[in-house]
Amino acid sequence: MNCTKCDRDAVVHAAYSGAHLCEHHLRASVEKRVRRRIRQDGLIGDDATPESPETWLIGLSGGKDSVVLTSILEETFAEDPRIELVALTIHEGIEGYRDESLDAASELADGLDIHHEVVSYTDEFDLEMDDVVEKDPEGMAACAYCGVFRRDLLADYAESFGADKLLTGHNLDDEAQTALMNFFEGDVAQMAKHFDASLGPFDERTETDEFVPRAKPLRDVPEKEVALYAHLADLPVHMAECPHSTEAYRGEIQDLLLDMEERHPGTRHSIMAGYEELAKLAASAYGAKDSDLGECERCGNATTREVCRTCQLTEAVHAV
Ligand code: SF4
Repeated sequence: MNCTKCDRDAVVHAAYSGAHLCEHHLRASVEKRVRRRIRQDGLIGDDATPESPETWLIGLSGGKDSVVLTSILEETFAEDPRIELVALTIHEGIEGYRDESLDAASELADGLDIHHEVVSYTDEFDLEMDDVVEKDPEGMAACAYCGVFRRDLLADYAESFGADKLLTGHNLDDEAQTALMNFFEGDVAQMAKHFDASLGPFDERTETDEFVPRAKPLRDVPEKEVALYAHLADLPVHMAECPHSTEAYRGEIQDLLLDMEERHPGTRHSIMAGYEELAKLAASAYGAKDSDLGECERCGNATTREVCRTCQLTEAVHAV
């Protein structure tokens, strides 16, 4: 099958748009969608100038999504002095997994000449995920602990770098799964948080000044196209799955969505279009308020509890 846009062989069929794309046009199309999302979300602040550039901190795990995002951002802003990119890799302490993806992240950052920092749960919390899984003081899935620790570190480091934006590599499949999970759980408050934390144009969010704003410029690109882009661009990517991955419910949603997408192309896009509108409405009703936030008694981080969730969990792990 030929590419819809030229005579070259197609490498992918994007059934949701009807297009067959060759290597060149797939890569161009992915880059175009990322740049359009940056524009539509108003990511580049009006105050960003060559004299006073914005710092964008990218969560770079070494997996395909964050590697593709980092590569496209570097290509987009290499000649734009208004934006400075910094990459942060979090080492959770998972044997046989994170060391390899750290190698991929370092190779990419070195090759692109991007400032790259590595931070570990060991240094920050005096624990490793392998131990947390073994001790499991709260009877929770590994990802529930890990997600709390990671969010905390990303926010802390974004602040300590003086970052203006925190960017993560969530793709269309990730976002449609999260949307559907929130629907199925009837969790309107979570929809509001999702919108305020990372969806939609910045001027429509109701977030507080306490957190560095988040963005997901890859969220219009399906996972399969991200993986293909990484392969075709010969980017250093670590493809293995985390041995502690326990998100069974997300896996069920993923299977459901892939099946729906195959039978009804465009399902993920329409879920996200509707979800964003609903999440916006939820955000205006439930939006974050500065008055809800206090300081953690232990670490001083912003929280709605007396002791933040990170301190609760690290203390529980150390007590075992
Ligand atoms: Fe952490 Fe879960 Fe991701 Fe593994 S899959 S790195 S445990 S969040």
